[in-house]
Amino acid sequence: MKRRSLIAGNWKMHTTAGDARDLALAVATICSDIKDRDVLLAPPFTVLADVADSVENTGILVAGQNVCWEEKGAFTGEISPVMIKAAGGAAAIVGHSERRQIFLETDELINRRVSGGLSFGLTIILCVGETLEEREDGEAFTVLEKQVRRGLAGVHAADMAKVVIAYEPVWAIGTGRTASKEQAQEIHAFLRRLIAELYEKDIAAQTRILYGGSVKPTNIDELMAQPDIDGALVGGAALDAEIFGRIIAFK
Ligand code: PEP
Repeated sequence: MKRRSLIAGNWKMHTTAGDARDLALAVATICSDIKDRDVLLAPPFTVLADVADSVENTGILVAGQNVCWEEKGAFTGEISPVMIKAAGGAAAIVGHSERRQIFLETDELINRRVSGGLSFGLTIILCVGETLEEREDGEAFTVLEKQVRRGLAGVHAADMAKVVIAYEPVWAIGTGRTASKEQAQEIHAFLRRLIAELYEKDIAAQTRILYGGSVKPTNIDELMAQPDIDGALVGGAALDAEIFGRIIAFK
């Protein structure tokens, strides 16, 4: 079964209102003829509403780069799922390696974000990935299994339609170093088997698993040709509409 592809752009801590709107409009223009795949933009929270407004009725999805599990309350610095939806967002990235490494987010905290976001109807992109050291120590599969099991703890099968997994090897993010298509496919197949074990085969067959880590126009085609790679989570290359457009238009 071929799943609908998803190309997601993570803008990280880039753009203010003017350039965010320009970038979103440029992506929307580039995507206007593309109907057979999904495109998602994850801008900073401060411009989420501007971006959502700029891509209204284009089919482009907008996401937060993180999400709190509560609707409202004393959670200084956090953004709730309701706030994301009210600003025009439909999804959130959770567990990005920058959140795990720089802000010390644990699997348990990430799991609360996953569950909370889902309970308010957001689509969740759960990021997992091993460090270079873990890979070199032969720990990649163990680390990934732990991140997925803990990240999805308590998530019901019925909610899995709204879960996307993003495999992002930490050593490939923002480094210019990409996993080879064989390395990525091996991990994606492993993650799909793990989801089948945690839920069932049909759910695993429907779950989209994205690859992230220095995705560029020059490597997207071979990555997307792999049977278990359903899309890409793109960082740096998503900040240039023309380059991102070439990634979206993969063959
Ligand atoms: C990311 O931020 O999720 C990412 C994959 O970044 P980059 O494409 O720049 O490696």
